[in-house]
Amino acid sequence: MSKGGLLRVMEQFHSIQGEGVHTGRSAVFLRLAGCSVGCPWCDTKASWSAHGHPLVPVEHLVETVRQAQPALVVITGGEPLQQDLTSLCEALVPLAIPRHLETSGVAPLSGAFEWITLSPKRHRPPQPALLACCHELKVVIHEPADLDFAMAMAATCQAMGSSSPGPQLCVQPGADSPTGIHLALHHVKHHPQWRLSLQTHKWLGVQ
Ligand code: SF4
Repeated sequence: MSKGGLLRVMEQFHSIQGEGVHTGRSAVFLRLAGCSVGCPWCDTKASWSAHGHPLVPVEHLVETVRQAQPALVVITGGEPLQQDLTSLCEALVPLAIPRHLETSGVAPLSGAFEWITLSPKRHRPPQPALLACCHELKVVIHEPADLDFAMAMAATCQAMGSSSPGPQLCVQPGADSPTGIHLALHHVKHHPQWRLSLQTHKWLGVQ
């Protein structure tokens, strides 16, 4: 899908990381276009079709990050691994700003990252290589089966010798899901190795 130094991009903006382990940190988001995963609850459905979005030179994306000087740059989507991230990551190296990836893990890893957040989906399980190397496992919870899936994914990470002592474990209630909130709270209270992830940027009304 990527062509040399060009990537299909939906949007790029400077905000805070709203969810997960790095919540509250200054971050530039590079939201790449294209996703075939098809989650019914997806809040970025406009990203699904790559071809409705422009091809942007990698240098332009790097310049956005350079000007903002954030604490970290988050490469997200859509599903960012549906494009080859090698040239983008290489071009970001001179900035010495940590590169974070947010992925469902359905496509092969490309590029090099200081932090990988794997958000696997029950209906499209991730590639084993992502389970083996992720730093953060973040599972969206709508119903009890999602907790079973979260536990299974965490066990697989441990068994595959993921980054010692294994990834940070997060459950995140699905948007507008009272059942998801109840299940995630109960899970964290009774499984202290897990933490709650909340979409704080939505409370704040920011991107
Ligand atoms: S993987 Fe992410 S972008 Fe793709 S459909 Fe699911 S929630 Fe939406």
